[in-house]
Amino acid sequence: MFEIACPNCKASFEYTNEEYIHLCPFCSAGFIIDMEHGSKEIISDHFIVPSEMQIEEVKNNFMGWLRSHYHKSVKLNDEFEILGCYGVMLPYWVISLDAQTVWSGHSAKMKSYPGQTPELSEKFVQEQGQFSRRYRWAVLARRSPKEHWGIERLHNPKEHIMVDWDGFPLDESLGIAGQGKKEIYLAKEKFRFEIAGSLPVTGVQIKEEQAIMRARDQITEYHRRISKTKSGTLYEHRTEVEIAGIQLVHIPFWFIRYSFSPKSLLRFFITSRERHVVFQGYTKVVLDAELPVSNSEKLYMNLVLSGVGSFISLLLGFLTYHLFFLLFLFFLCVGTFSIWRIYNTQETDIDVKKGSQNEEPASL
Ligand SMILES: [Zn+2]
Repeated sequence: MFEIACPNCKASFEYTNEEYIHLCPFCSAGFIIDMEHGSKEIISDHFIVPSEMQIEEVKNNFMGWLRSHYHKSVKLNDEFEILGCYGVMLPYWVISLDAQTVWSGHSAKMKSYPGQTPELSEKFVQEQGQFSRRYRWAVLARRSPKEHWGIERLHNPKEHIMVDWDGFPLDESLGIAGQGKKEIYLAKEKFRFEIAGSLPVTGVQIKEEQAIMRARDQITEYHRRISKTKSGTLYEHRTEVEIAGIQLVHIPFWFIRYSFSPKSLLRFFITSRERHVVFQGYTKVVLDAELPVSNSEKLYMNLVLSGVGSFISLLLGFLTYHLFFLLFLFFLCVGTFSIWRIYNTQETDIDVKKGSQNEEPASL
């Protein structure tokens, strides 16, 4: 711990070396210390988005979310328990930029015409194209996105591609606020601790240059994957990113941990573990969630039930009417379908894997 004087209001306070930008608890000024020269530089582009939810509303919205995702709403209070709920202001570098992509590739020709030479090269068609997009790209200003559950991957692209990075286009990733509310970017105000209210403000650990570098990498990769959806085989791909500006924005998030212990037959199929939901504090949207019953659990359930069903109908087919053999075939189909789905979805069952290594920070 060190003692430092704020260059804005001259008040002194303690700080740790962990942080890149120091925030004065008295006047909310943010500044960077140049260790070599001992000079302090106040940052001007620092904003905060207010949280529109408090803890009670978060819990109520969570119950509402459960009701819409779980069919037996009568049992909600018996089977579900909120284990923890907290909110936090996370720092993001928001980078305004233009990204331009040029790509080329080839695709297999759909049709072949009579009299065409059967040469291999003839069966492919050259393709090329370009596209450009403008983003306000948000990069978390913390070293680890694993401090809070669900923060690792907030970007849900419109295209059918998987993203595995933590940066995201701010305008489309954090949800749309209710009627009469501004977009999240426009709702920001000059940073003041009072706006954060009861929510702890997390410090900035990542420098602008690092954030810009990560944004460039992430957008290049994003655009490469978009290009791949446009062509059978991508030969070449080039993305140029032009930075227009960068701002620091503290954004509110709320996290819920809950447990699910079913009283019904379901309990034989459900693995008991903690589940998580993350809310956007301003737009109030559920950004990511672990469902009470995951898709793979549903499939296993199907598999077991259709197995039992097919066994019984086979037995009945032999003992009573032959018509039961039809039922046996039906159960067999359901079972086979479940096996096929389990085999195919094991790698993409996101609601189980996503954020599984995260833990709630001990300090909150
Ligand atoms: Zn100050």
